[in-house]
Amino acid sequence: MADHTTDYLIIGAGAVGLAFADTLLDEDPDCHITFVDKHAKPGGHWNDAYSFVALHQPSAFYGVNSMAFPGEQIDTHGPNQGLYALASGTEVSAYFEKVMNLRLLPSGRVAYHRLSEFKGRDDTGTARIAGVLSGTEQTIAVRRKLVDATFYQTSVPSTHKRGFAVDEGVRVAASGELPELWKAPASIPEHFVILGGGKTAMDAGVWLIEGGVDPDRIHWVRPRDSWLNNRKFIQPGEDFIEATIANQIAHLEAFRQSQSGEEVFEHLERGGHMLRIDPDVTPEMYHYAVISEGEIALLRQIRQVIRMGRVTSITPGALHFGEQSHAVPQNTLFIDCTARAVPFTAAANSGPQFRGDTIVLQPVHVPLVTFSAALTAFLEVHYPDDATRNQIARTGALTDTPATFPYAFMMNLMNRGTWSQTPEIAAWLAKSRLDPTGPTVARMIAAGDPRLSALGGFRKAVMEAMPDVIRLGMAAKALHEAGLQTGARPTN
Ligand SMILES: Cc1cc2nc3c(=O)[nH]c(=O)nc-3n(C[C@H](O)[C@H](O)[C@H](O)COP(=O)(O)OP(=O)(O)OC[C@H]3O[C@@H](n4cnc5c(N)ncnc54)[C@H](O)[C@@H]3O)c2cc1C
Repeated sequence: MADHTTDYLIIGAGAVGLAFADTLLDEDPDCHITFVDKHAKPGGHWNDAYSFVALHQPSAFYGVNSMAFPGEQIDTHGPNQGLYALASGTEVSAYFEKVMNLRLLPSGRVAYHRLSEFKGRDDTGTARIAGVLSGTEQTIAVRRKLVDATFYQTSVPSTHKRGFAVDEGVRVAASGELPELWKAPASIPEHFVILGGGKTAMDAGVWLIEGGVDPDRIHWVRPRDSWLNNRKFIQPGEDFIEATIANQIAHLEAFRQSQSGEEVFEHLERGGHMLRIDPDVTPEMYHYAVISEGEIALLRQIRQVIRMGRVTSITPGALHFGEQSHAVPQNTLFIDCTARAVPFTAAANSGPQFRGDTIVLQPVHVPLVTFSAALTAFLEVHYPDDATRNQIARTGALTDTPATFPYAFMMNLMNRGTWSQTPEIAAWLAKSRLDPTGPTVARMIAAGDPRLSALGGFRKAVMEAMPDVIRLGMAAKALHEAGLQTGARPTN
């Protein structure tokens, strides 16, 4: 006899597991849910984030469906001026704690084993978990399904394993340590080297410049440059709906005019929809990061960019890239921003979400991970079999490059087409706060808002672009799958 019994055992109480549970509770009034998570608090990687981390998308459509973030307002100063303020890492952590403590646990239908690791499941469906601190094992009989909410394997600077060697005497810090520097005025470094080309590295660059560091005191190792979404086109609510629709139409038109994924980005850049830090360098990476024009202007001040690949080791005064080296000042602080956040090239465990007695939560609209989890819970409750559920929401690919992006875009568009023609899903989207446009459009239709006329243009653009979306999408799919077979590319 097991120590506990539940209907759904969710491994991981991060954003994705919480979004799934929140919708499941609403849609299935009878089920019991149990979480097991190694962390001490809900929210997953947000508990380990550096202090100046922030959501790069608006919080209006992040988190769980039943609870909005508090106090969403427009920034009146700084590089994000005129756009919705970004929730800080602390706010995101506090939000997920509230979701667990004020929403899920008080329902009386949720159990939460924190500081506990999932150890496996036997043939009878009974799972084993072990306390991280106590080592004590417990068993949980799972009546319905095991839900794996760890697919994204999010890695952050404070917990990732460094992929390069460091000699004694070399100062390396995670970005989270930067705000501590003021405490030791005698050891403020003369120089800074940012390692990595992803969003964490960009956050570190903005933080240093806003903190008054002369950009000439900064080197930036960028193995790959990245295309970045312009935040002014990714904003919630009625006031931004025309820009949001214009952004979607611009994507569709770019597909019509392009022969490759790379060309799609060039078209989007001309309309200001996509940004890059260095206009002279063609980005080789696209991870859906969102940035403001103000942040780009700050980052362009860093002119000492080293593009020699990934660092293999650091010795006093020198960075090494295999056989090649690059000198830097002796008194340098190296800021390690090489954690890969989401493993865009990992294929492990990908496939359909619904697998008999297991659900593996994955993106069904890339990159909306919490939205995808919530919709998956809706499908679990309202559709009778796995084949139908998997057909209605096909898993999207976490593509890594501009060349492979059309594959993810095509999958998003195909899923969206299915959902818009399935009345019960369309009705659910219209009230789902995690859908960037659903509730806004529903409110505007109810109010007869004339700004919605832009939607007519969007529908026409979809019809016209669909053959090109499929043309580029299928070619990109082949590239993506070939890339997975030949091994992962570096991600940052
Ligand atoms: C700095 C940063 C900013 C981001 N910003 C955005 C954004 O603006 N918008 C967006 O959509 N996405 C963003 N992302 C992507 C991000 O990955 C997701 O938003 C989301 O937080 C991931 O949640 P998760 O639940 O998948 O993973 P996690 O937060 O990693 O949670 C997984 C949980 O599973 C637990 N776990 C794993 N294995 C086991 C086991 N065997 N037993 C028990 N527990 C286990 C872990 O302890 C962890 O708590 C960002 C990512 C990073 C790193």
